[in-house]
Amino acid sequence: MEIIRRCTNFLFGMECLGCGRASEQLDPWLCSACREELAREALAYSFPSPDAMCMFPVRPLTRRLVHALKYRGLPGMASYLVRRSTAVKGGEIAQSMALLARPFYFVPVPLHSSRFRERGYNQAQKIASALATCTGGRVCNWLSRTNFRVSQTKLSREERGYNVAGAFEPKLPRNMPSRGTIFVVDDVYTTGATTGACVHALRRGTVLDTKVCTLLYDEPVSATMDFVADCRMEWDGNYGD
Ligand SMILES: [Zn+2]
Repeated sequence: MEIIRRCTNFLFGMECLGCGRASEQLDPWLCSACREELAREALAYSFPSPDAMCMFPVRPLTRRLVHALKYRGLPGMASYLVRRSTAVKGGEIAQSMALLARPFYFVPVPLHSSRFRERGYNQAQKIASALATCTGGRVCNWLSRTNFRVSQTKLSREERGYNVAGAFEPKLPRNMPSRGTIFVVDDVYTTGATTGACVHALRRGTVLDTKVCTLLYDEPVSATMDFVADCRMEWDGNYGD
């Protein structure tokens, strides 16, 4: 019976994506208790570096929702989460954005082509699109991912970090705008290595102020070495992530 109930709930969308319980008051994904929990999590936004803003912490609920965005074929979850974050609700993220030069350009971290084929969409693109709609701005695909990796031995320690994170190339338009703010957008920020590599690539082609905005901040408690590496990049002053 339990299996039949779960199948029915799943098929007819009556099961909360957060707690898994059946509910008739889904919105359409969360029950009222999980909605309240999400509203509390939205207050735990963070700024892991002066140039990076993360809308939610990683908690069981937020992790499940981002997992649904990435692996359960629910691209609409990006807009659902952005609309419930303080990025658009007058919280500190929205206030920080209000101080930045407009217009805003939201640049998604490109997905590996194999992942894109598998998933059918890039979750970072969906988040960027939701941010553009909610805060005013536009999505710009100004980065591409290359499989080309330079031999590590010839690189500085900082460049090695970027190389490991993935090689990104700027894909900027000829008539590049001369004012505004760029946001590199991704789903999760852990060490900042991936978004940092994107910022690094963009700065090769533009002098526009470049920030980072992600849905989640996953505190790298078990990755002390990565944290130290991130701090070092920040102190070096060449790193905007
Ligand atoms: Zn629930």
